[in-house]
Amino acid sequence: MAMITCPECNNSVSDSAKECPSCGYPINDKKRSMYDELNEYDNNASYEPSALPPFNTPGLIGFIIGLLSLFMPLFIGVFTAVAGFIVSYIGITNYEKRGLAITGLVLSSIAFVFSIIGLLLWG
Ligand SMILES: [Zn+2]
Repeated sequence: MAMITCPECNNSVSDSAKECPSCGYPINDKKRSMYDELNEYDNNASYEPSALPPFNTPGLIGFIIGLLSLFMPLFIGVFTAVAGFIVSYIGITNYEKRGLAITGLVLSSIAFVFSIIGLLLWG
């Protein structure tokens, strides 16, 4: 077992002792409360970001891919449109700010339909 210094009287105390034998300072109680404080801090840290609506990164990526798909050569546009559709869909189902994701889904759908029609007509 390790020896620690009592914060109250500076005596050497076993870290498994409940309290300092010379002054009665609570050793393990103190440890536990510090541990609880750390836990509380962690809980606060993980709680705060979820309190704010997360930025819809998939929605933004889906929007960009969908927009680019409109200008892609047809045979590439089919694949980028599907990718944009999937990423936008993730953005819509998993995030709160969905404007970009919905726009990305619409743009990807348009790009997909145009690419398919273009391939059928000229491919
Ligand atoms: Zn002590």
